[in-house]
Amino acid sequence: MSTHTGVGASAINRGQLVDAIRRAGQVSRVELVHRMGSNAATVSTAVRSLIDDGLVVEVGRAASTGGKPAVLLSLVPDSRFALGVSLDHSGISYVVANLGGAVVGRLRRRGAGADTPAAVVERIGTELTSLVTHVGVDPALLLGLGVVSPGPITGSNGMALTPPAMQSWRDFPLAESLEASTGLSVLVENDASAAIVGEYWSGTAGASRTFAALYMGTGIGAGFMVDGIVYRGASGNTGEIGHICIDLDGLPCWCGARGCVETVAAPTALVAAARSRGLPMPGLSVVEDFAALARLSQAGDPVAQELVTRSARAVAAAAQSLANMIDVDLIVLTGPSFTSAGALYLPVIQAHLDTTFFARDCHRVEVVLSPNAADAAAIGAAALVLQSELAPHMAAGAAIDNRGSRRLARQRLQRA
Ligand SMILES: [Zn+2]
Repeated sequence: MSTHTGVGASAINRGQLVDAIRRAGQVSRVELVHRMGSNAATVSTAVRSLIDDGLVVEVGRAASTGGKPAVLLSLVPDSRFALGVSLDHSGISYVVANLGGAVVGRLRRRGAGADTPAAVVERIGTELTSLVTHVGVDPALLLGLGVVSPGPITGSNGMALTPPAMQSWRDFPLAESLEASTGLSVLVENDASAAIVGEYWSGTAGASRTFAALYMGTGIGAGFMVDGIVYRGASGNTGEIGHICIDLDGLPCWCGARGCVETVAAPTALVAAARSRGLPMPGLSVVEDFAALARLSQAGDPVAQELVTRSARAVAAAAQSLANMIDVDLIVLTGPSFTSAGALYLPVIQAHLDTTFFARDCHRVEVVLSPNAADAAAIGAAALVLQSELAPHMAAGAAIDNRGSRRLARQRLQRA
């Protein structure tokens, strides 16, 4: 995780402190001073406030190394919870995550589809309530709701530019509406940026500090962590690798450019191409139809294989640009569409990087498939809430935390 040297007593980040304890399992104050790059008095004060709030407990003493054995600290995993929602045209994923980083409940329901945004927001409220009730979490311990959406995020609204299937969401006040419907503090994040937080939070990235999450839902995006910090750019809209141009005179893309990776490689484009070539598509949602296409490809259908291979080559080219730009050592394939097709894409992307990554003589870029591909964005959204609620001094728009999040709108959760 990120540590900031010279962190003063007034600036110590509770979110980072909790993260350090979470990752350590059991840890002494002395070790935390070392990990936080802080001083003993600052850490001691911050730990005291976490203990007072019930987030941390003393669990015993370390083995003696001569002097008085140090007291060990541990998180109380079920002391706080957050909800994460990944909203897409094709499906809505819900997770309940606890402070310890565990997903204690999950649910997947049909996507936004053609419903009005207001109707979908109302349904999200109902489905969240039933999930929280089913899991048995005390609502008073909920810190808030993180929501991720596929379009670019802006201002106090949700999405400014929206994918074609979600045009009715353009400029819809997503955060405000969800706050009104759930009574929770709401944080909005781009799906790929949330996904990389989810991968970090779930431990997929291991010890890697500079890695990327290549996210495929109905479109393609990426989130990246550089030296332990999620890079978010000027507005939280980084990693749009689906809109790297691979053909100057190519097909027009919904973003306004031509020949983007998404025009030949995104599940939306592939499902449309498959249908026009006469392949049987169930006509359910893009992600489900794309899964059907992946199964046809695996079963040996030549047209399906041609479409998937072409897509995988385009995604590999995008991954190459990503790796060359940021010099990552790991790329995690994540997002709902990789749950069905990850095994088809991974070898193509890995082989391409092995032969084209610019700095391949220095190190390899390893490509792995996320074990949480379907839920990574929702897990990341919940993790962002836990982080930001624990770091109340974090300014809007400031990427000062290793999971720096832009808080678009919030209201304090009314606790009993
Ligand atoms: Zn584009």
